[in-house]
Amino acid sequence: MGKNLVIVGGGAGGPSTAAEAKRRDPSLNVTILERGDFVSFAA
Ligand SMILES: Cc1cc2nc3c(=O)[nH]c(=O)nc-3n(C[C@H](O)[C@H](O)[C@H](O)COP(=O)(O)OP(=O)(O)OC[C@H]3O[C@@H](n4cnc5c(N)ncnc54)[C@H](O)[C@@H]3O)c2cc1C
Repeated sequence: MGKNLVIVGGGAGGPSTAAEAKRRDPSLNVTILERGDFVSFAA
């Protein structure tokens, strides 16, 4: 089972962090928690 990364916040920083983490380790299981209705898709 791979490593898990949980990111709180789906604004600008959250998805950017998720994308960079996956670039560095594609096997990571990344979960983004966002309290609002939308997440940023710019990253
Ligand atoms: C008035 C104003 C105008 C701005 N105008 C510009 C602009 O024109 N251009 C520009 O590039 N930047 C602008 N900025 C800056 C930009 O908004 C921020 O730099 C950027 O949004 C920061 O991203 P962030 O991911 O760090 O935080 P945020 O965008 O605040 O994202 C944090 C996210 O975390 C979520 N969250 C918080 N607590 C929890 C929790 N407990 N559980 C789950 N989710 C949670 C929130 O819902 C939010 O979606 C502006 C900022 C302000 C205040």
